Amino acid sequence: PPRVRFCPSPTGNPHVGLVRTALFNWAFARHNQGTMVFRIEDTDAARDSEESYNQLLDSLRWLGLDWDEGPEVGGPHEPYRQSQRMDIYRDVADKLLAGGYAYRCYCTVTELDERREAARAAGRPSGYDGHCRDLSDEQKAAYEREGRESIIRFRMPDEPITFTDLVRGELTFTPDNVPDYGIVRASGAPLYTLVNPVDDALMDITHVLRGEDLLSSTPRQIALYKALIELGVAHRIPAFGHLPYVMGEGNKKLSKRDPQASLNLYRERGFLPEGLLNYLSLLGWSFSADQDVFSIAEMVGKFDVADVNANPARFDLKKAEAINADHIRRLDVKAFAEACEPWLRAPHANWEPEEFDQAAWEAIAPYAQTRLTVLSDITANVDFLFREEPVEDEASWQKAMKEGSDALLRTAREKLAAADWSAPEALKDAVLAAGEEHGLKLGKAQAPVRVAVTGRTVGLPLFESLQILGREKSLARIDAALE
Ligand code: GLU
Repeated sequence: PPRVRFCPSPTGNPHVGLVRTALFNWAFARHNQGTMVFRIEDTDAARDSEESYNQLLDSLRWLGLDWDEGPEVGGPHEPYRQSQRMDIYRDVADKLLAGGYAYRCYCTVTELDERREAARAAGRPSGYDGHCRDLSDEQKAAYEREGRESIIRFRMPDEPITFTDLVRGELTFTPDNVPDYGIVRASGAPLYTLVNPVDDALMDITHVLRGEDLLSSTPRQIALYKALIELGVAHRIPAFGHLPYVMGEGNKKLSKRDPQASLNLYRERGFLPEGLLNYLSLLGWSFSADQDVFSIAEMVGKFDVADVNANPARFDLKKAEAINADHIRRLDVKAFAEACEPWLRAPHANWEPEEFDQAAWEAIAPYAQTRLTVLSDITANVDFLFREEPVEDEASWQKAMKEGSDALLRTAREKLAAADWSAPEALKDAVLAAGEEHGLKLGKAQAPVRVAVTGRTVGLPLFESLQILGREKSLARIDAALE
């Protein structure tokens, strides 16, 4: 069974690109009864943060993307944080040096820059030129005496590297395109180029699914793998699949700094985990030609990397919202009511916590469920039930209260007062009849009533809203609007 990994670096806030990668790995593991390894690539002390680490764990838990090995759950390859595995990398780097698979490079940044410029000017490949590849012991000793620092560089083979990408098919990289590359800094700190494939090897990863931005590191990693196999550190080269870029506004790659890319934004706005995952799964994959709303279990049932599309995917917020809305409709009403609780109970400007009325909420919840796109919209939709007075919204008032609105409201008030409040239909008939007296259709007649009672021009079905708010309060608000 396959072993896949999700191995983010804990820098900044989690973003949707990262979640898409986690999701595809997870779905692949779950579909194939494989193992999901969660590893933290925190070897860059300057950029990594504990806060970001905690957010990563919390985000995956919220999304329901569980892992079989990794932080908090442990596993046979502990520790799963690279910052705690430095001895392992030092040891492997030593073996690579001793075996001649890597060498010390003494070139200074200035020297490298100068030679790169010269190569460019002469139209030659501008990658590392192999200057320190085969230094004699005397040359090395001379550099050391000069007090030069050295990095460790991996020696790329001189022949092309070919592999079959699970998404893109067969790819070939020629040596010109993949020069020798650094694996350990002068400070002794190992780089991503070393620690990532070393851990994939030691953790026995069989399939690497990751973003297309990492495609250029794959030939390097494959060459390093071959060396690790010869050294007995690795057993096999994993299969690689590169997930397509995600394009944002203006057909530009969605950057992790793009506000639309922030996972927290979706969480705060009240996306359901299932809705968000459903949408993200469509970035490079499709469920079927005629269905794009499905459960995560259904996704897992159908997921196959062979179906991932190599073409860039387009991020479409409107579609994400529409899919989320569908998932909100799919909940049973109790689950919906519970999902809204964080927004109803958290302190916010719309009402005071003690004004919240559980019975009124349960009565209105079914009507809210069929209308919300994101859960955070709930507060504005139900605040009229909990406040002493409706919110004051000048724009709504201007829009709904036209010439003649007072006369209409007066008639509606009379008819509503005389109506039977046990069913919303009777309230509708009352407003309908009031409209008729003033030559207004129902839509026009109910607008001033809605604003008087709820403070807004749009909202949940009006007559159900009136009924749940109750006769006394509803009529008092119409009276207040008429003052
Ligand atoms: N830590 C790397 C990143 O965050 C992982 C890349 C990979 O999947 O190989 O981009």
